[in-house]
Parts: sequence; C-alpha cells; structure tokens
Amino acid sequence: MNVLVVYAHPEGNSFNAALKEKTVSILGGTGNKVAVSDLNEMDFKPALDTRDFLELENPASVNYLMEQRNASAKGLFAPDIKAEQEKVTKADLVVIHFPVWWFSAPAILKGWFDRVLAAGFAWDFGKIYKDGLLPGKKGMLVVTTGGNAQIYSKDGLHGTDMDQVLYHINHGVLYFCGMRVLPPFVAYSAFQVGDEGRRRYLEEYEARLKKIDSLEPIRYP
Ligand code: FAD
Repeated sequence: MNVLVVYAHPEGNSFNAALKEKTVSILGGTGNKVAVSDLNEMDFKPALDTRDFLELENPASVNYLMEQRNASAKGLFAPDIKAEQEKVTKADLVVIHFPVWWFSAPAILKGWFDRVLAAGFAWDFGKIYKDGLLPGKKGMLVVTTGGNAQIYSKDGLHGTDMDQVLYHINHGVLYFCGMRVLPPFVAYSAFQVGDEGRRRYLEEYEARLKKIDSLEPIRYP
C-alpha cells in the first residue's frame, strides 16, 4: 500500500509529530511505501492565486475554478501543486496530521486542500462524493486538541462533538472527492493530559495503525 502522510504543524517536535512518526514507522514497517508532506518544513504556499498556473485560460477575468479545470486538463499547474498531486495519485491511504486550530485546520493545510485537491483533479462538475475523482483511496485525520473530550460534546461547553467539528473536512473535503473516510484519531487535551496520558495516546494510536486494513470507513448517507 502507498501511504501519503500530510503533516501541518509548525513544530517538528510537537506531540502531533510524535503521532506522525508512529504513522511513518508502523505503516512503513510493514512493507508499505510512505511519503511525507511536511507542509511547514516545505514552506508550502497556502494561498491560491494566479501563480498556481503556468498559463491562464482567461487572464482578463480569472475564475479560479475554471482555471483549475483548465490546468487539470492541460497539465498547467505550478510545480509544487503538481508534485503534491502526484503523491495523492499514488496514495492508497492519505493520513492527515494537524492540531485543531479555531475548530478547524491550520491555514497551511486549508491551502493544501484549496490548491492540491483542485477541480478537474480531485473532483469536477457532477463528479463528487461516490463519483469523486479520487475513488479507491482512504483518508484519515489524526488531530490533537487543547480542549478535553467532555467539552467536545453536545452537552459540553463547546456544544458540539469532534465528529461535527471535523465534518467539514471528513465529509466536505475527503468524502467529497470520492475517498472513503476512516474514523479520526483524536488526542484530546494533548498538553494537559500529562506524560502518562500522552503515552496512552501513542499506544492507542499504534494499536489503531496495526489494524488499519480492517477499520470500517464512516458511513455517510
Ligand atoms: P505540543 O504543545 O507540541 O505538545 C504537548 C505536550 O506533549 C508538550 O508537553 C510536549 O513536551 C509533549 N510531547 C512532545 N513530544 C512528545 C512525545 N514524543 N511523547 C510524549 N510527549 C511529547 N484547541 C482546541 O481544542 N480547539 C481550538 O479551536 C483550538 N484553537 C487553537 C488555535 C490556535 C491558533 C492555537 C495555537 C491553538 C489552538 N488550540 C485549540 C490548541 C491546540 O489544538 C493544541 O495546542 C494542540 O493541538 C496541542 O498539540 P501539539 O502537538 O501542538 O502539542
């Protein structure tokens, strides 16, 4: 199996990185090929703009959706986008690691979605969800949070749970593009749980990785 690990955290030695290293060592240790996109280390350009295209179809009035479709059809993406798309194309499993920031992903990861999972490459008109352009691939989010599991519940302080917080990525990005979405791994309160809590998270995550082939994807209607 080919695995693409996308890591979106400014620190190379975060707890998030410790989870990422598990993905690399456990999945890589069983004969899989693992590629890593460490977005901060790559200084990945997050904002979509005209530099994303080697040529514009309509420079007088740029419509980014149509430019993405044109670039997908004619191979006109900038080299950094092309390189990431090649990794996505090869991957059977995409594991995306990030800290939850403002109930969402760090901007650099949002930029990776915006620029890499482009129209005509990952989805197209009428080609979404089960007809999305990335079929046969699985995706999984691995996140850390500041808040604990109790406040991430319908009755908790945040008034919503992690399935809902991550819905816009799991459903709105991965499933939208045709991928099957594995349940996310969430290390709540990564800082406050202390050494023992973090040790348990690493153990739980390792156990999850060892049975990744048998994990049931989330059932969306
Ligand atoms: P780190 O701070 O890197 O590490 C936590 C602890 O783990 C540290 O003590 C570190 O020493 C230790 N550690 C590092 N490596 C290892 C290892 N190998 N083994 C064991 N321990 C290790 N939280 C929310 O819940 N909701 C939000 O909406 C939210 N918004 C935020 C917005 C911003 C802009 C920021 C900066 C933070 C926000 N947070 C939010 C908090 C954020 O989610 C957490 O700070 C983050 O997820 C913690 O994970 P980390 O990997 O950065 O932890």
